[in-house]
Amino acid sequence: MSDETHIIIGTGHGGVQLAASLRELGFSGRIVLIGEEPDLPYQRPPLSKGYLTGAVTAEGLLLRGAKFYEDRDIELLLGEPATLIDRAAKEVELRSGRRLRYDHLTLALGVRNRPLPVPGGELDGVFSVRSIDDSNRLREHIEAAENIVIIGGGFIGLELAGGAAKLGKKVTVVELAPRVMARAVTPSLSAFFEMAHRRRGVEVLTGTEVERLTGESDHVTGVVLKEGRHLPADIVLFGIGVVVNSELAEAAGLAVEDGIVVDELLQTSDPFISAIGDCANHPNVYAGSRIRLESVQNAVDQARCVAARLTGHPTPYADVPWFWSDQADLKLQMVGLPVGAERNILRGDREAESFSIFVFKAGRLIAVESVNRPADHMAVRTLMKLGIEVSEEEIDDPSFDLKAFAQAKRKAAVA
Ligand code: ADP
Repeated sequence: MSDETHIIIGTGHGGVQLAASLRELGFSGRIVLIGEEPDLPYQRPPLSKGYLTGAVTAEGLLLRGAKFYEDRDIELLLGEPATLIDRAAKEVELRSGRRLRYDHLTLALGVRNRPLPVPGGELDGVFSVRSIDDSNRLREHIEAAENIVIIGGGFIGLELAGGAAKLGKKVTVVELAPRVMARAVTPSLSAFFEMAHRRRGVEVLTGTEVERLTGESDHVTGVVLKEGRHLPADIVLFGIGVVVNSELAEAAGLAVEDGIVVDELLQTSDPFISAIGDCANHPNVYAGSRIRLESVQNAVDQARCVAARLTGHPTPYADVPWFWSDQADLKLQMVGLPVGAERNILRGDREAESFSIFVFKAGRLIAVESVNRPADHMAVRTLMKLGIEVSEEEIDDPSFDLKAFAQAKRKAAVA
């Protein structure tokens, strides 16, 4: 029986996975999971998708039931924000003033929504979605709304647009950049999604700047664009990027630069403190540089990586990045990172809204973006994980059976 204490701050996918993995790998010391929200740890991705439209229930959001934590002797301290890390004493202080000593501390602090930097952002009827409370409030108000303006055409903005359009609303998306989802996807995929959302009745404005929101009796009534147009709005939603929750780390003197800086083992500049998930700026082998990744995959796999190190099996973080985004009835899945893309090869049918874009750099497949083609996505995840190359010629050849190829390689690897 170990008498060590592992404290985890943050109850998102990363924090909860770390607690689970530590137990799975035989850690028998004390595990304390600290979260600022009072709710049992839940999944955030459905908040802008299925939870909004009612397809996912509050119970369905939970990462694990209460019994999971009890059975594994994982202490949950919920509704208890950590306010300070005392590295010299190896203690975490909570808002209540209570102090807890750690042998190892992991920061799984996540990110928060960047506030809307335009006049009128504080009006009633202006929403962003990060927590279950946010989503509940939006659900209450979306019903009665007719016109909805969404500021930001990133993943969250477009997921909200898809959901709102499904609910029969008149939706306009205002994106500042020349194309939607520019941060993370190829221009070709952006163009497809702009067209697909328009096809579903959503007005998509790119390269368009918001000047201010208008209101009446403290409630939003519309959005004024720089170009002068006024868009009427009963509610305004925004998803314009995030701010990393790195203040605790910064105040403790840890290295912070676009996130909490960690090495390939996910250790911060203090060997007794790790950082994982959205908040961790890490060297990523697929990017070929330091990055922060905002994804469930990254949080979960980084949690496993830290759990393995702390139970005696240190291995550099090198998991295949993958993401998904459900927009209306379009299932977007991405694997790899399209950094430095040189050539795209299309498989499938764009018109029929079922295709994949295979992205090559120097003859190597670096990423695949799939729309309603889950088999391509899964096949490439398998191949990337095994480190098996697939050539441009093969992908270009419509008779090449990618799924069978990946399955054969997986069988060979297992044998
Ligand atoms: P998320 O994944 O949280 O949706 P992204 O970074 O993918 O975040 O998307 C944010 C989007 O918001 C980007 O496409 C960005 O260009 C856009 N954006 C940022 N600031 C503004 C703004 N003031 N008005 C409209 N769009 C904005």
